[in-house]
Amino acid sequence: MSQLRRGVGKDLCGRVHAVTGVECYLADAHYPRPHQSLDGDSWHDGLCSKCTGAGSWRDFICDRCNGAGFEPIELIDPETYQPG
Ligand SMILES: [Zn+2]
Ligand SMILES: [Zn+2]
Repeated sequence: MSQLRRGVGKDLCGRVHAVTGVECYLADAHYPRPHQSLDGDSWHDGLCSKCTGAGSWRDFICDRCNGAGFEPIELIDPETYQPG
């Protein structure tokens, strides 16, 4: 787990989107709000269901989460859903 600390010196989330590779710039304690990148993308993720967070699968980089250990989750929020 020490790999999660990269000497940034700030308690930032730093979660990398498994698909787009963008990095969450929000503070570490932004939950339950979604991750958000500087580009404005926001997303939820959860422990990768293939590698269960290990980032690798049978000695290969997990192709579901690209080694991030987390996979994006599609959430449909009825409060923010705007028809039309
Ligand atoms: Zn985040
Ligand atoms: Zn995975």
